[in-house]
Amino acid sequence: MKILIYPHKILHQEAAAVTNIDGNLQELIDRMIETMYKAKGIGLAANQVGELRQVMVMDVTPSEEGSNPIVLINPRISHAEGSEVTEEGCLSVPDYSAKIKRAALIQVTGFDRDGKELSFEADGILARCIQHELDHLKGICFVDRLSPLKKAMFRKKWAKIRPGRK
Ligand code: ZN
Repeated sequence: MKILIYPHKILHQEAAAVTNIDGNLQELIDRMIETMYKAKGIGLAANQVGELRQVMVMDVTPSEEGSNPIVLINPRISHAEGSEVTEEGCLSVPDYSAKIKRAALIQVTGFDRDGKELSFEADGILARCIQHELDHLKGICFVDRLSPLKKAMFRKKWAKIRPGRK
């Protein structure tokens, strides 16, 4: 699948909640996982492949430990605490990274690929990844979270990295 590049308009649209987990959705999930691995990313939201459905795939396992894909459908953060500022990147904003503040510990609910209800606690890189992908599903890119000054600097840099794009 083709990964949409910032500032594609679908990246700024809100994904709709999934109401039916069927073969069609599972096929989308499998293709998203494949696309994420191919791009060497640790997370991918459906918006990034042009699908406005609340689906995210992730794998934050270090590559030498093999693959361990996580699928989250209709994810919600029911509780968040603490904060952490860490360098973040995005497959839709290639060759750019910036420090972003995120909650350090989150309680997450959602459904897996088979429709099983999930509820778990996440911290570290997984917590960061879930918050980043959840932003995508709401139509927010991490660069939208930059301060006005940093965003202006990003725009300048981005115009050079991505000639012909806004
Ligand atoms: Zn992203």
